[in-house]
Amino acid sequence: MQNIPVLIAHDGTRSLYVFEDFMGAGVCTGRTAAGRRCRNETWEEGQVATYEDIYVNDLVVSCYGPLSDDVGRRYLTQRCRVHDSPDAVAFCDPEWERFDPARHHEMTRKPSYNSLFMLGAEPPPRIVALALHEHCGEAERRLLASLLVEGPARS
Ligand SMILES: [Zn+2]
Repeated sequence: MQNIPVLIAHDGTRSLYVFEDFMGAGVCTGRTAAGRRCRNETWEEGQVATYEDIYVNDLVVSCYGPLSDDVGRRYLTQRCRVHDSPDAVAFCDPEWERFDPARHHEMTRKPSYNSLFMLGAEPPPRIVALALHEHCGEAERRLLASLLVEGPARS
């Protein structure tokens, strides 16, 4: 599976983060007693969230999450269970990056007609328009527009 952004709820907001290796949630940033970097995975206790599509600007992003509370905190501090303590010495800083649609463009895609149904109850009209523009021909768009203007036929 390719790397995907992780949605983390932190300090009352939900943000997307990109880890170097999502499936391992990144390697621990703690320092071992021998002075080396810990090789444990940040999270090794199983799946805690699901995969979902969200929209960022006018693009669809598949992500894992949302993660919150202790799980989200562990991801952001990038520490394994052994080094998940204020007393544990850091070998390096966490390596995640904030998701950026420009920098992480390979993790985005244009909205498709099918993806509209994955975007929650009410995708924003802009996304709907883009998906229709991307996936409908001129004649279909004209028909849709006329239906929206005229409404359904009355008997
Ligand atoms: Zn560790």
